[in-house]
Amino acid sequence: MTGSMTNPKKILAANWKLNKSPREAQNFVTDFSKAEKLGLDFVFFPSALCAEVFSRSKLEWGLQNTYFENSGAFTGENSAGVAYEMGSRWVLVGHSERRTLFHESDAEIEKKLQRAWNLNMQPILCVGETLSERENGQTLQVLKSQLMAALGNAPESVKVQPLLTVAYEPVWAIGTGKVATTAQVQECHLEIFKILKNLGFSEKTSILYGGSVKPENAGELSKLPHVSGFLVGGASLKVDSLMSIAKNMQN
Ligand code: PEP
Repeated sequence: MTGSMTNPKKILAANWKLNKSPREAQNFVTDFSKAEKLGLDFVFFPSALCAEVFSRSKLEWGLQNTYFENSGAFTGENSAGVAYEMGSRWVLVGHSERRTLFHESDAEIEKKLQRAWNLNMQPILCVGETLSERENGQTLQVLKSQLMAALGNAPESVKVQPLLTVAYEPVWAIGTGKVATTAQVQECHLEIFKILKNLGFSEKTSILYGGSVKPENAGELSKLPHVSGFLVGGASLKVDSLMSIAKNMQN
């Protein structure tokens, strides 16, 4: 683990979405294991069918979504408890594709966070506005309402450790090639920092940016205050591009 007593940890998280077979995942893990790690915390979010590959590796990993119950008659869901048993210590919660395509509600997101915390797992909570919300000047209001709904009842113990990472992911920038400007990222990350502080979360809580991050834009974005790393989709599928992002975060 990296990070000093006062600074949030630098994290580079890879969201593979519904990509890669177990064989392709294994090839990636083999190649990645040979690359220099550059003092960052890498975390992988493979599809559930590739979890076994990661459970056999020494890498940090989590599922892209887990249900808020651990077991029972919930056809098609994945258990955070089983992922934990397999070695997972992370989970993505509230990714915008879950919120929009699968109609995941704020109430479900809160319950999924509580499940992760019960297991002592580190959730990455994703928040972000749609294009129409941004155009209507509602961005900061949306961030506040998503954060309050998810974290308003968070137990004190998780605020201190902290057992939380937040990812600011403007919906219009995910998988579109459109990156938020440095001014937009700066404004939103500062707002998230202030809301977390008001809720009593440690200032060491990492706040990641996500939305079309590539080697070309990672350097500039990583220098902004309150940006402690990235959640990366498309550019995380190849070891070369992931490692180029990591290198540019160092420079
Ligand atoms: C994501 O999946 O969270 C994401 C940010 O994807 P991309 O990097 O492809 O925009």
